Amino acid sequence: MKSIYRALVDIVDGEHVSDRPEELYIYSFDLGTAEPRRPDYVAAPRTTEQVQEIVRLANREKVPVVPLGGGLSLAGLAVPLKGGILVDLKRMDSILEVNERGRYAVLECGVSQAQLTSYLARNHPSLTHSEPGAPPTATVAGNVLIHGQGDLAQPYGFNSDQVNGLEVVLPTGEVCRFGSCAIGVSWFTNHPLPDVGLFFGWCGTTGIITKLSIRLYPAKRIRGVGQFVVEDEELVPEIIEKITATQMAEDVIAYSRAIPPFGLGLQHFTVNIAANSEKELEFKQELIWDDALGEYISRGDGGYLGFTRGLEHPQISKTSDYKKGGGFEYVGSIMPIEKYPECYRRGREISERHDIPYTVTGRCIGVGHSMMFAWTYAFNRADPETMRQAREALHETDDLVLELGGVIWKPGTYGQQLTIGLLHPGTRALMRRIKEVLDPGGIMNPGNWEGI
Ligand SMILES: Cc1cc2nc3c(=O)[nH]c(=O)nc-3n(C[C@H](O)[C@H](O)[C@H](O)COP(=O)(O)OP(=O)(O)OC[C@H]3O[C@@H](n4cnc5c(N)ncnc54)[C@H](O)[C@@H]3O)c2cc1C
Repeated sequence: MKSIYRALVDIVDGEHVSDRPEELYIYSFDLGTAEPRRPDYVAAPRTTEQVQEIVRLANREKVPVVPLGGGLSLAGLAVPLKGGILVDLKRMDSILEVNERGRYAVLECGVSQAQLTSYLARNHPSLTHSEPGAPPTATVAGNVLIHGQGDLAQPYGFNSDQVNGLEVVLPTGEVCRFGSCAIGVSWFTNHPLPDVGLFFGWCGTTGIITKLSIRLYPAKRIRGVGQFVVEDEELVPEIIEKITATQMAEDVIAYSRAIPPFGLGLQHFTVNIAANSEKELEFKQELIWDDALGEYISRGDGGYLGFTRGLEHPQISKTSDYKKGGGFEYVGSIMPIEKYPECYRRGREISERHDIPYTVTGRCIGVGHSMMFAWTYAFNRADPETMRQAREALHETDDLVLELGGVIWKPGTYGQQLTIGLLHPGTRALMRRIKEVLDPGGIMNPGNWEGI
């Protein structure tokens, strides 16, 4: 095994390779409940060529390769389940191009959300991207790879729908490009070449994305969040339908949680609005609060809690950690909007049975086309009993998602196996063939989508 270490040092250079237990320990777990597992080596490449060399080495030596962005998926997706070489991509962090007219950015795979946000604010203040509520060190690439959603999800959908092009190192070491960058130098579109999208949702088991192009959008001068609340969860789907019909909001989130206690059982909405002038802001607020929601207010079914100017990034990551000892994990799902009441009631029941204060959140994706509904379970990492309860609640929730007709978002290994069990046989056979062709050595992030 020592020869693998020396080969990695030759590829990357000594400073950015480690097999020291104290450093491997840091890479052995994520923030969620997944069992820790140490990699055998960590390597932090700087170039696509170095990634190619690492993958070729892993094939020769038959050891696993696990790509790591920010490591914040929470579902154990970058925990090296079978050891091997953990490839930390954070040094590949150049912002290669920002095209103001064509509104896109070309990034290396290690660029973080916060890095892109602050770079745009400094150098291209007229542009913004759809930033998830994840902690700021999450990478843009890691997020699109798991079909993440950000604060422009309402008008523009999943972040993975906003990709203009990719550069990928395949599990056998070759480099491929997809989108307009496959035939020229420009990264402005992913269409209309033949469809060979093989990388999103696969948890790095079909290749390592080294560069990507994402769409940018006009950044309005005034941004803020309006808050609305109702008691009856049955009203949530129609309220979302009414808000999204105005097409005036950037992000629409409904949530309910047990803490603080006065919020128990209430359904809150946060509605992000952006405008370039006071006139535009007033117009949008009128359409949402008066025209769409006025009837709920006048009937006494709901209340408008006000509008706060300025929008902190990220928002969601600040809301989830309640237990002393700090730890939480959530099951995410992609669900039809009309399932909100049942998702809320069943999730609350699971939380209460496991003695965990409930937190549920539904983010609207597209114009009401679906929502990302998440059930969050907090635990104290120092207390094994709370971890056991959280794990049980998470598994029950994975089962619930499929029972309610949803799709588990970024499933951990338990949810992956449930999903595989339900896959259409033709789809499953095709996925198996794709995996065998792309990764004949079975080296890429093994343990994920296993037995497809
Ligand atoms: C508090 C909190 C709030 C969150 N809110 C949101 C939210 O609002 N929206 C949202 O979408 N997500 C959210 N998340 C989930 C998650 O943090 C984000 O989706 C995050 O962007 C994932 O990126 P990452 O760099 O951490 O990915 P990682 O966890 O590093 O990687 C995810 C998967 O992709 C693989 N991978 C990573 N990089 C590459 C690459 N370059 N090539 C191939 N495979 C790769 C990894 O092996 C892993 O399987 C939240 C998480 C937390 C903790």
